[in-house]
Amino acid sequence: MTDHLNNGIPPQEQQPPGLTSEMTPQPDHGEQSWVGRNRLPGMKALITGGDSGIGRAVAIAFAREGCDVALCYLPDEQSDADDTRTWVEEAGARCVLLPGDLTDEQAARNAVDSAADQLGGLDILINNAGFQWARREHGIADLTTAEMDRTFKTNLYAMFWTTQQALSHMSEGASIINLSSIQAYDPSTPLIDYAATKAAINNFTVNLAAELGPRGIRVNAVAPGPIWTPLQPATKAADSMPKFGMNTPLGRPGQPAELAGAFVFLASPTEASYVSGTVVGVTGGRPVF
Ligand code: NAD
Ligand code: MG
Repeated sequence: MTDHLNNGIPPQEQQPPGLTSEMTPQPDHGEQSWVGRNRLPGMKALITGGDSGIGRAVAIAFAREGCDVALCYLPDEQSDADDTRTWVEEAGARCVLLPGDLTDEQAARNAVDSAADQLGGLDILINNAGFQWARREHGIADLTTAEMDRTFKTNLYAMFWTTQQALSHMSEGASIINLSSIQAYDPSTPLIDYAATKAAINNFTVNLAAELGPRGIRVNAVAPGPIWTPLQPATKAADSMPKFGMNTPLGRPGQPAELAGAFVFLASPTEASYVSGTVVGVTGGRPVF
């Protein structure tokens, strides 16, 4: 339960990439609530970072909408990926698991080809894998090149590689959805590198939509606000967790399940047939302009 002072999340900390099983309370990925209406019939999607958090909620919703999915994730996250697969298969959809590090160019390209080969095609790419690091006391002075490499390679390089590779498998009616963030619009000082990648992702989304429009491929982004996922306790200070998400007009953090509707809409070739080059905010009321 939430009240004015407390989001119900106790202090806690993990090391990246973080696991769902170590979180208190457990996030809601729509396991008990998402009702499928066959909005993505016979489609095939690759969701990077689909083991946990927002990616898991998207995987569950897509499966219940009739879409087969492939998930990329880091090898340390096998237990989360296995749990997501259980939910996808329970919905009657196929689930291909592709452990690997997307900051490695060949691994990123191979993951996309494997997804398309094993699913028998690719209609939807969700560029959802992401990294941030907020345990910094002195702002930009604390930022190391190794941290910059990890943030920029995970959030940007991998997105370019997976997108390039996916396009060789996609045709008219396909779509790409990139993960932006409220940080693209209202950056927090400890996330100076991460916020810069999210602003770049908005720009990439608009530019790619212009290039791919003539091919009938749509490109959009979703900008979440504070969402309760493993990324948060794995990259922020333990004592910041009880305040997490309280700085939104809705006065609480969001759950991964609350993102799924935006992704199903944007991926649907009928509902979003004329929607491309835009960023949908799911922020608890914070502005995305
Ligand atoms: P999450 O930790 O559940 O998901 C992030 C995933 O990225 C991980 O599960 C991991 O599998 C994947 N990943 C990271 N580095 C990788 C690598 N090198 N190779 C392969 N996979 C890698 O957290 P989440 O919050 O669901 O994050 C999903 C996306 O949402 C990210 O892009 C994040 O920036 C974005 N986002 C999250 C929030 C939030 O508050 N949780 C807010 C705005 C944007
Ligand atoms: Mg994970």
